[in-house]
Amino acid sequence: MKIALLGPPGVGKGTQAQRVSGRLNYVRVSTGDLVRDQIEADTEIGQELKGYSDRGDPVPDDTIMNLIRVHLQPAGAWILDGVPRTVDQARSLDEELEKHGTALDKVIMLEGPDDEKLIERVVNGRRQSLATGRVYHLEYDPPPDPVEGEDPGPFVQREDDTEEALRRQLEAYRKEAGEIREYYEEKGTLAVVDADQEVEKTTENILEVLGYPQRHP
Ligand code: ADP
Repeated sequence: MKIALLGPPGVGKGTQAQRVSGRLNYVRVSTGDLVRDQIEADTEIGQELKGYSDRGDPVPDDTIMNLIRVHLQPAGAWILDGVPRTVDQARSLDEELEKHGTALDKVIMLEGPDDEKLIERVVNGRRQSLATGRVYHLEYDPPPDPVEGEDPGPFVQREDDTEEALRRQLEAYRKEAGEIREYYEEKGTLAVVDADQEVEKTTENILEVLGYPQRHP
């Protein structure tokens, strides 16, 4: 199955993508991680990307497509985290998949708390493991004990998790979200999931939408 997970920054795309891909054994493709990896490695493209990342501006559509193309295995089961962010990206993605005779099966749009809460959540609590790239929250989804846990950390704050950058990202998201939603509604692949609830509850709702309902005793 091929899935895209959309939503504003901080709504829980990374968190849910890592949980759902873990349970279903899907590959998670995170554009945020791909961009950060290029910046970290200080590649030519990374140097260009750093400017966008620091400002919170969207990366050009072509660059994003070039970054993800190699990961879109036609025979694979994968979950895209953070793309498409524009209708142009949605169209390019569809065209790319069509070339290989495939298509997105489901597009899940996470709807969360209001912008102020999202900013507060990220700036005050988001931490990422340097070892595994997993995302945590100091209060709501705390990192495991570095000695006993499976993820040894260290757990660091992302450089782009500043209030200014987040406001810009939110602004860009709100500008495009309506159109993206319509685009996938028309295709019949859109499902909206409430992400303003506990992490596990949201995961269950996503699994349900994907046809894997959780059985409760
Ligand atoms: P995104 O990838 O959409 O930017 P993240 O998955 O990084 O969002 O989540 C943003 C922050 O909020 C992280 O610190 C994460 O641990 C935390 N978080 C995610 N989902 C929830 C939730 N349902 N309730 C509370 N905090 C959450």
